[in-house]
Amino acid sequence: MKYQLIIIGGGPAGYTAAETAGKAGLSVLLIERNNLGGVCLNEGCIPTKTLLYSAKTLDSARHAAKYGVVVPESFIDLPKVIARKNKVVRKLVLGIKAKLTNNHVTVLPGEAFIVDSHHVRCADEVFECDNLMVCTGSETIIPPIEGIKSVDYWTHREALNCSQLPSSMVVVGGGVIGMEFAAYFNSLGTKVTVVEMQDEILGGMDKELSSLLRADYAKRGVKFLLNTAVTALAQDEEGITVTYQTGGAEECLVVDKLLMSVGRRPVNQGFGLDNLGLELTERGFPVVDAQMQSSLPGVYICGDLTGFSLLAHTAVREAEVAVHHILGKVDMMSYRAIPGVIYTNPEFAGVGATEESLTTKGIKYKCIKIPMAYSGRFVAENEGVNGFCKVLVADDDTVIGAHVLGNPASEIITLAGMAIEQQLSVYQWMRVVVPHPTVGEIFREALAAL
Ligand SMILES: Cc1cc2nc3c(=O)[nH]c(=O)nc-3n(C[C@H](O)[C@H](O)[C@H](O)COP(=O)(O)OP(=O)(O)OC[C@H]3O[C@@H](n4cnc5c(N)ncnc54)[C@H](O)[C@@H]3O)c2cc1C
Repeated sequence: MKYQLIIIGGGPAGYTAAETAGKAGLSVLLIERNNLGGVCLNEGCIPTKTLLYSAKTLDSARHAAKYGVVVPESFIDLPKVIARKNKVVRKLVLGIKAKLTNNHVTVLPGEAFIVDSHHVRCADEVFECDNLMVCTGSETIIPPIEGIKSVDYWTHREALNCSQLPSSMVVVGGGVIGMEFAAYFNSLGTKVTVVEMQDEILGGMDKELSSLLRADYAKRGVKFLLNTAVTALAQDEEGITVTYQTGGAEECLVVDKLLMSVGRRPVNQGFGLDNLGLELTERGFPVVDAQMQSSLPGVYICGDLTGFSLLAHTAVREAEVAVHHILGKVDMMSYRAIPGVIYTNPEFAGVGATEESLTTKGIKYKCIKIPMAYSGRFVAENEGVNGFCKVLVADDDTVIGAHVLGNPASEIITLAGMAIEQQLSVYQWMRVVVPHPTVGEIFREALAAL
């Protein structure tokens, strides 16, 4: 059977490409070996945010008295939290299935194997295509720490389904996934220690705001070991013994559970990608152009497999761009304004350049940092909570970066993302009328202060 487009992988990149191409009338085959929705829907973005919302609701109940609301008793019903998370995932996966069906996409469950750029095998059948899109995503990195094989450690998958709260845990890696789980288990009452090799958590995000978020969680009982590397692991009836190197000394602690979250790597082996002989970057990722086309015409690479940002929203946009190229529409991928969000409580979000990235590149910039208390709505809804907004502006007054620590950073960061993507100047952005009172007004306050 011949298709105009075969897509391998049904995560955000794959299902977006399939829906967009199907809607445009292309014949599309999507091959997925697990569940439609990929990591994002089944074990990533959506389940983590569903759990974190339960944790946030618990936090709100605990702090209700600050808002004049009496909540006599608040506690977590963990099996119910997990059941709700599963229900949310099921509902959204069904939604993806329905969209693909409505757009006449053929979905084939199974493991795809690339024969060449026009042929893909699944089970015993070989399918032909005009265009091939590879969206196989990424997987958890398990570092080769001494003793790791003898330890019953968690990755995000086990942590998502934990229905009996551990009394203590070590989170190895203070990146986005590590910090979101640290926040979740801290709210629920687990004694959490985050071990991070770098001198600050959340590498790649604004360092100053990262340290403020860390200080906030430290006050709530999370212990942070920075510049620290886990060197050995062992397990007995007492729990998991974590040995780590910090400041030249070797120390250890014993915990109930250990969550491994040191990063993710693209899935690029075992399914014939090598057969294509694609040109690779120095880091081993397939080279793609601004239309997501690889060095082989008609072969597109989208999502985490590109190794660019490992974020679902990047994957979605890359897939749209690739399909537009197949359809002959003018479009190109831009990485100027990819927002990054950590759904802790408070949330932390950033888009565009950071002070650190600009300093490394030797680019001059102006920076304004104001407290979130400049927003009336923030003050109304955040009793006794601090937060900050930082805006970075180039010498020619173009807005190039924005960073927010405070709720709802995940929602308002889009305003800054649009300004940065459109390369608005401070004055152009100031002309946009925003509703009052909203937390998004914080950007106007920052620009006015600048
Ligand atoms: C715990 C966690 C939390 C996250 N939270 C967020 C968040 O809040 N926001 C955000 O933007 N991102 C988040 N991410 C990252 C996000 O999930 C990924 O960036 C996104 O899923 C990438 O989409 P993708 O389509 O490239 O790949 P994936 O979603 O990984 O999908 C790839 C699919 O390809 C399939 N596949 C692989 N090989 C084959 C084969 N040979 N044959 C058939 N099928 C195959 C896989 O089964 C998989 O379903 C999170 C990730 C994790 C792990």
